[in-house]
Amino acid sequence: MPESYDTIIIGAGIAGCCAAFALQRQGQKVLLVDRSGMAATGGSGAAGAFVSPKIGKGGPLQALTNEAFAFAKDFYLEYFPDYFHQTGVIRIPKDAEDAKKFSLYEPHNEAKYRWLNKEQLQRLGIKENNASFLFEEAGVCDAPELCNTILKQVPFQQFAVEKLIYNNGNWTLLNAQRSTLNARHIVLATGHESDLLDLRYMGIRGTWGSRGDYYSTLELDVSMHKKISVSANIGGIIKLGATHVKSKSPCILCDGKPLASLEEVAAKMVDTSDFVLKETFCGMRAGSKDYFPLIGRVVDVPYMEAHHPNVFRGAKPPLKHLDNLYILNGVGGRGFVFAPLMAKWLAELIVEGKAVDRRVDPDRLFLKWARKLKAEPSA
Ligand SMILES: Cc1cc2nc3c(=O)[nH]c(=O)nc-3n(C[C@H](O)[C@H](O)[C@H](O)COP(=O)(O)OP(=O)(O)OC[C@H]3O[C@@H](n4cnc5c(N)ncnc54)[C@H](O)[C@@H]3O)c2cc1C
Repeated sequence: MPESYDTIIIGAGIAGCCAAFALQRQGQKVLLVDRSGMAATGGSGAAGAFVSPKIGKGGPLQALTNEAFAFAKDFYLEYFPDYFHQTGVIRIPKDAEDAKKFSLYEPHNEAKYRWLNKEQLQRLGIKENNASFLFEEAGVCDAPELCNTILKQVPFQQFAVEKLIYNNGNWTLLNAQRSTLNARHIVLATGHESDLLDLRYMGIRGTWGSRGDYYSTLELDVSMHKKISVSANIGGIIKLGATHVKSKSPCILCDGKPLASLEEVAAKMVDTSDFVLKETFCGMRAGSKDYFPLIGRVVDVPYMEAHHPNVFRGAKPPLKHLDNLYILNGVGGRGFVFAPLMAKWLAELIVEGKAVDRRVDPDRLFLKWARKLKAEPSA
């Protein structure tokens, strides 16, 4: 008999790694698979991997992000302290107009913060006139090292999943060579690639971004985010990163020079005169239709189409889900902030049957998508 697992997690980015870690801690026999032989070759490898709170005028997404931030920093400090640098993160206004909004944002800063004025910023080596927030508990992860450390702690296999088949309470994963793997539960943590099943209702889409790691002797103790992210100098390396290009292919807008605009902006923020490029990364982050993460069970779209066609005319029949099939995706530009808490919630759903938080349950998107589909003329 081939070996069978409680849960196979597909995708070894930060989402899949955290899911495998959380499920294993709940006593499950897990297997993490990825088409690559190592972790973090997707969006997670390219990430600047800042772990910082969200600023703004409040609202549900900010509240959820800040709840996830509070959990994530403690999680990394407890389990992976070597790969989380609590440098603090300064949030700098994008321009004078944005600077005016910071006092409106202030009442909604849930994480510990303090203001830094122009002189204080300059003493830290930052060329900036506008008063900014410093979040001292925030920091930066070493993204690939962190994911690969998690990978070493859970069973892992290189496997490019081509097809998923469900039969008699058991999922079978197939690759192109017709090899198979078996499990009771499946977690899809495949980032922007979402073609294994019909997930259209979740509206998963990718945004390209790039990161450059530079050798530098610049004394920069604090990380910062303005239009782009600039990390503190950690072991002689400063990371510049940003995501911004909504496109299926990379390099359409950057014309083969993904770091040109980053370097231009960074030079206005700090002294980049001794920066020497060490490595370039490009990757895609995956967001959902409404920017909230996608954690939970997956609606059986073909079943709903066949048995409840009235759902496309505004009816609200009970949703039928695929048995034992779950997703952890849509963590957007904050994968390293969301992944630890979302993985915990997912593990509680799978192992304890605890209902997932409605804010992140993908069900929220199905009926709206179905109604809209009917309203739109077919292609
Ligand atoms: C330039 C850049 C900067 C960023 N900065 C930050 C930041 O500062 N802070 C932050 O929190 N987030 C940041 N992000 C966002 C963050 O990187 C993403 O949210 C996160 O990486 C998403 O992780 P994931 O595990 O969902 O997806 P991914 O990391 O993309 O992982 C998906 C994995 O699934 C695998 N896979 C897909 N399909 C299959 C299949 N069929 N079979 C087997 N394997 C499969 C892929 O190989 C891949 O390894 C940034 C992103 C970019 C691109």
